[in-house]
Amino acid sequence: MASSSVRIVIVGDVHDCWNFEQDSKALQFLQPDLVLFTGDFGEENLEVVRSVANVEFAKAVILGNHDSWFTKKFSESEKDKVQLQLECLGKEHVAYQRLDLPLIKVSVVGGRPFSCGGTSLFRKKLLSARYGVKDMDESAKRIQKAALGTPENHFLILLAHNGPTGLGSGLNDICGKDWEFKGDGGDHGDPDLACAISLLKENNEVSIPLVVFGHMHKELAHGNGFRKMIVVGADNTIYLNGAIVPRVKSLDDGNKRSLDNESPLSSLEIKGTARAFTLVELSEGRVTKVAESWVAVVEDRTTLIEEYVLFERN
Ligand SMILES: [Zn+2]
Repeated sequence: MASSSVRIVIVGDVHDCWNFEQDSKALQFLQPDLVLFTGDFGEENLEVVRSVANVEFAKAVILGNHDSWFTKKFSESEKDKVQLQLECLGKEHVAYQRLDLPLIKVSVVGGRPFSCGGTSLFRKKLLSARYGVKDMDESAKRIQKAALGTPENHFLILLAHNGPTGLGSGLNDICGKDWEFKGDGGDHGDPDLACAISLLKENNEVSIPLVVFGHMHKELAHGNGFRKMIVVGADNTIYLNGAIVPRVKSLDDGNKRSLDNESPLSSLEIKGTARAFTLVELSEGRVTKVAESWVAVVEDRTTLIEEYVLFERN
C-alpha cells in the first residue's frame, strides 16, 4: 500500500458535540488514514465514547479530565464509567502506550490520561491504581518508555489531552492560562510531557515530529480572543492544539450563503451543521500542511465551507 502521503484528522475536545451519523459523513468526506481524538467527550459521557469507538477509521484516543469528572478512584466492587469508557476503547486508548500503524508507517504514543494541566496530577488515585504512576517523574518515564521501540521508519505522534510546558505563558499561548482576571496568564502545560519529550530528544532515541493535544480551548475566556493553536519548535517539532470548542455549529446565514454557491438547496432545506476538524497532511514522512477545517453536513451533502491553513511546507 502506498504510504508516501498520509492524512490525519484530529477531532478536538468533543464536550458532548458528537453525532455518529453526521460526524461519520464528515469523516467520509475528509477520508482520513487516521483519526485522533484529544478527549473530553463529555462528563463521563459513555454514549459518546461508545459511538466514537464505532467510528470506522483507524483511530487513537486519549481521555481527558472531563472523562473522569466524577470518578476519583478505582472501584473494585463495580464498574465505574472510567472503566466502561476504557473497555469501549480497548487498545485505541493510547495512554502510556504505543499504537503502531504499519500500513501508513505511523505510530501514536499516548501521554497521561485525565490531565487537567499544570503542576499537580489530576486523578492521582486513578493513575496510581490503573497505571502505577504516582508522580510527574514516573509519568514522564512511562511516556518515554512507550515511545522507545517505535519502528525506525515510522512517523511518531505524541497524543496527549494537554500540551507540554515550555511553549509560552501568555494567556493566548498554546497552553497559556486564560481564565484568571489578574496577571498575564501562566504556563499551564503538562510538565511530564515536556520532560518525556526532552528525555527522548536528549538521548536521540526517537525523533518527534508532531505533538497533538487539546484541553486549552481556542476561544479564550472573558472575550479575550483566540489562542495560538500551533507552535513550530526550533527543532521543527510541531505542537498542535486541536481544541476548537464548540466543534459543532448550526449553519447560520453566513454559512448558508457559502453553501448555496454550490448547492441548489433552498434555505428552507438547509438545516445542517458545520463541524470542526484539524487536518494534518504528511508527505514522505514530513508534515506538509495543517489546517482547521469546517465541514458542512446537510442531510447527505458534505462540503468544506471554511479552511484556515495553520502551516504549509512545499
Ligand atoms: Zn480538558
